Amino acid sequence: MKKKLIIGCIATLLLAGVVFGCYKFYDSKELDIDITKKIVVSLNDKVYNTDGVKSIKNGKIVDKKEVINTDKVGVKKIILNVEDFFKRNKTYTYELEIKDTKAPKIEFKDKISITEGEKIDLLEGVKATDNYDKDVVVKVVGEYDFNKPGEYKLQYVARDSSKNETKEDFLLTVKKKVVVVEKKEEIKEVKPVEKKESNTNVEKKEEAPQAAPAVVNGDGTFTTSKGFQGVTKNGITYIDGVLIANKTYSLPSSYAPGGLLGDVSNAANNMFAAAKAETGYNMWAQSGYRSYSTQQRLYNNYVNRSGKAAADTYSARPGHSEHQTGLAFDVCATGRPCINSGFDSTPEAQWLSANAYKYGFILRYPPGSSRETGYKYESWHFRYVGVDLATKLYNGGNWITLENYFGITSEYNY
Ligand SMILES: [Zn+2]
Repeated sequence: MKKKLIIGCIATLLLAGVVFGCYKFYDSKELDIDITKKIVVSLNDKVYNTDGVKSIKNGKIVDKKEVINTDKVGVKKIILNVEDFFKRNKTYTYELEIKDTKAPKIEFKDKISITEGEKIDLLEGVKATDNYDKDVVVKVVGEYDFNKPGEYKLQYVARDSSKNETKEDFLLTVKKKVVVVEKKEEIKEVKPVEKKESNTNVEKKEEAPQAAPAVVNGDGTFTTSKGFQGVTKNGITYIDGVLIANKTYSLPSSYAPGGLLGDVSNAANNMFAAAKAETGYNMWAQSGYRSYSTQQRLYNNYVNRSGKAAADTYSARPGHSEHQTGLAFDVCATGRPCINSGFDSTPEAQWLSANAYKYGFILRYPPGSSRETGYKYESWHFRYVGVDLATKLYNGGNWITLENYFGITSEYNY
């Protein structure tokens, strides 16, 4: 009886040992997996479906490792099938969030220049590109006024749908408009220059002889006495590409640009702005473009008043005025005599004579050159020829006339 009990006890202990052993073994083979709840990545990052699993023990991922498409913003559910030691299947899911973290790029001009009153679309020509968005929103940030001259520091701000932003600075310059007042001129030019120039500031130079007449080549072109090529097309004469209007070369009445040409007006604005900034002088183009018929009226008035010979010394015959070209204007300054020899001795006139070439303008009728140009000194009349030629003609302060440079005449032949 006692023996039986002992055997029973041992058997029970053994069984318990086996059961415990089995349990221990089973427990050691249990699946141990650490899987994330959510992964956040950037657009087009390289991500595998298995990336959400940080570690796995006693099991393996059944699904094949593969790249997940991340070319669209959003949240994806990733499903993974896992098999444990005992070949049992379990399914896990986690989230993959794809974010756009790149800001758009902007192509733009960092300097925009307009003339007062001009209206432009500041977004025209601005191109915003994004890694994701097709239509990025671009805005102009900052205050400006197209009607108020000044410099405005502004910003383009481009924003994509994920709220990534790019900011770029640009400068808007609103330039003062060249005001051309044609009406006043008739009064202003009534009292010109009958008396001899008596200005002490103006050094007299020897009057050069008239240039030899041009040699006509027969094909519509001609060669000047200094060897420059000239051509007259539709009644308009160009020498070495430069439009010429003087007493020899006239413009047809049909030549009518209607105002100062764009480049000229811009260059004039720049010049007046520079004068203002450097010296405080306030100058403007008082008289710019003049049509053939306006010139005809002006000239006839002068002839009626003082006779043809006198009129010819200070006013052009119709078709011969440089004001018809749209390339020339007369300058006036605040508080100074306007469009008459009283302007000659002003510091403004001296500033113009010393600086106009930098902006492409020439002092068209310099002192002591009337035999070349056909006109007395006009300290106020400037003509646009571009910076290169203007610099040559400026000649370090000893102005050369267009006529002398090209070797052409300026005299009426009728
Ligand atoms: Zn003039």
